[in-house]
Amino acid sequence: MTASRARRLSKVYGHGASAVHALDDVDIDFTGGAFTAIMGPSGSGKSTLMHLLAGLDQATAGTVHLGATELTSLDDDALTRLRRDRVGFVFQSFNLLPMFTAEQNILLPLDLAGVGVDRAWFDTLVATLGLGQRLTHRPSELSGGQQQRVAIARALIAKPDVVFADEPTGNLDSRAGAEVLSFLRRSVRELGRTIIMVTHDPAAAAYADRVVLLADGRIAGEVLDPTPESVLAALDALRQLDDRLAGDGARGVREPGLGTGAISVVGA
Ligand code: ADP
Repeated sequence: MTASRARRLSKVYGHGASAVHALDDVDIDFTGGAFTAIMGPSGSGKSTLMHLLAGLDQATAGTVHLGATELTSLDDDALTRLRRDRVGFVFQSFNLLPMFTAEQNILLPLDLAGVGVDRAWFDTLVATLGLGQRLTHRPSELSGGQQQRVAIARALIAKPDVVFADEPTGNLDSRAGAEVLSFLRRSVRELGRTIIMVTHDPAAAAYADRVVLLADGRIAGEVLDPTPESVLAALDALRQLDDRLAGDGARGVREPGLGTGAISVVGA
């Protein structure tokens, strides 16, 4: 089952000579019940792709599906509802409400949607994320790792079709980061959720089932069953490819066959 899909997706910022092709004709599928990482150099289009997949921004051309729903045909109200009811977000900066307890923060999406709590699911999330002793604490009384675990529970509480995570370990030390990544992976493996994560960290990407590589707004390849080593190797190959194109004076102009799937690594 495909949870999220883009076809011929393009995003251009600006006009004329100053136009930036942030995404250029991207075709990509994200399987439901999988943990996918999106990687690539700074400016390669990772955030743009994530924003378009999540219905946070409008495409210049092409289509985006969330399950069976085509996003580019929805009006603003429908998009707002879709983001509220069918998408979860985890940000680098946690974005918890400081005056609310951990429990209130987790339940916020349900309160906003006027939907009752599935207590069994709430308890499962709290247990999986190890938050049982922290539910009455405010964010200021929690460590960074605990705050991010609350944010993950909040992202999962409404059982969204897809959770988008934007550099979720960017503000955490490596131990808390590893913990958060294990929880993200468990929520996929044990709770059947779907996660798409943007990261620049090969060690973080290695927690995913699949790493999609972006370069210059295009899909440049993928790594299946990634390890930190195989992700680093793929990123090195991407840099060499980029250097070669730059050396040929052909940066941005792609030779046939150097586009989609130029780099493909399966297993370690
Ligand atoms: P990444 O997340 O991989 O760093 P982005 O998706 O943020 O890449 O950006 C891709 C390209 O689009 C970059 O060249 C960036 O400068 C440009 N860009 C992103 N957002 C905007 C914007 N709002 N206006 C103009 N250019 C933008």
